[in-house]
Amino acid sequence: MSRQTVEFSITAAERLNETLNAFLEIDREGALRRAEEIEKAGAGPLTGIPIAIKDNLCVKGMQASCGSKILGDYRPPYNATVIDRLVKAGAVVIGKTNCDEFAMGSSNENSAFGPVRNPWDTTRVSGGSSGGSAAAVAARIVPVALGSDTGGSVRQPASMCGVVGLKPTYGRNSRYGLVAFASSLDQVGVFAREVEDVARVLGVIAGRDPMDTTSADVPVPDYTAALTGDLKGARLGVPRALFGKGLDDDIKSSVENAINVYRDLGVEIVDVELPTADYAIAAYYIIATAEASSNLARFDGVRYGFRAEDAPELRQMYRKTREEGFGAEVKRRIMLGTYVLSAGYYDAYYRKAQQVRTLIKNDFLKAFERCDALITPTSPTPAFPIGEKADDPLAMYLGDVYTVTANLVGVPGISVPCGLSSERLPIGFQLLGPYWSEPMLLKLSHGYEQGRPFLERPPISAS
Ligand code: GLN
Repeated sequence: MSRQTVEFSITAAERLNETLNAFLEIDREGALRRAEEIEKAGAGPLTGIPIAIKDNLCVKGMQASCGSKILGDYRPPYNATVIDRLVKAGAVVIGKTNCDEFAMGSSNENSAFGPVRNPWDTTRVSGGSSGGSAAAVAARIVPVALGSDTGGSVRQPASMCGVVGLKPTYGRNSRYGLVAFASSLDQVGVFAREVEDVARVLGVIAGRDPMDTTSADVPVPDYTAALTGDLKGARLGVPRALFGKGLDDDIKSSVENAINVYRDLGVEIVDVELPTADYAIAAYYIIATAEASSNLARFDGVRYGFRAEDAPELRQMYRKTREEGFGAEVKRRIMLGTYVLSAGYYDAYYRKAQQVRTLIKNDFLKAFERCDALITPTSPTPAFPIGEKADDPLAMYLGDVYTVTANLVGVPGISVPCGLSSERLPIGFQLLGPYWSEPMLLKLSHGYEQGRPFLERPPISAS
């Protein structure tokens, strides 16, 4: 049984990848071998479930390119902790998914290996940076996939591809074996078509890990037990000020509809204010680039796969390797990050951004005194045409307006499909909750899903 399921996924991945470019590596032999072993070993909570992993998470023996050329043919000799836990639970990793280079992007167009195409319309982006994982789940290649979310990279592609995507509380999961982008913001997140599957996988991967000192020693509840379907008495906060300019009309009306569905399900709707949310994008792009400039210093042509040729002198070798190995967006961020951390500008930019981060956090904590979760759109627009924003990084950054706050504050967020636009492109709403409120977010998402199941299928689909 396990073998058949896994073989179906692999065959679908191989066949649809020509169109979607969602996978950078498909491990047919290894995955089939593991499926057979697991079939013999017997029951775990995820036995025989095929799963796809973003290419910035280490899976022993498979590639870990992070969507970049600079890692060359590097194959990590170890598993990320979240992977170890999935494997122990019986899941079978079938391949590594395409992503924006070092998870920097919102469209997957920054991958050195070409963009992922959206299964709903292959002329459009899949969202990013975990676009390959989102597309693989949307196209029914795998039931679940992992991504990473530093400023929305699980939630935003989930919404653009019509699947569920969860970013847990900072510290809920181990980051050991996740290639660092911005360490104070990064978290591993989960994609699935159904909330229950997200709950199941989160239960397996969550929890303290001695290999990551920022993973928290907070007990892991039974997330599936939270899916009671009874939402009566829950309170949902609506930050109306965020529903204004720049928000696509179809998205606005779909999210308003979702709010009405919640009201019908017995949820109390309250208005809340997040006055400093306007500064989130600016603060995020200072903090994320600062941390990235430091984290990416390790790619020097010595430690990992790729090294430039014809560079006999050490400094020349560093410079040439980084020039040839990194793409334009990564270089832009390293320069921005180095600038905001430099002695002359530290106070004006980096310190200021950290102060703004505290103000945003205080706003959120205050809002959560009045509600169990906040509801917003996940992305201001549905999936846009490939190339549309490629030459306009600022326009691309502004699309992260709804998602970056959760990472700055460290709270969990989830994107749930809630309809299609007039062009038949998926729309998602986002719920944000207080620290460790994953059970409440999952319960609210599941309640919505039961009331308004999203049954549409993309034209590119394995089944
Ligand atoms: N789009 C955001 C960025 O480009 C978020 C990326 C992410 O979450 N990894 O930084």
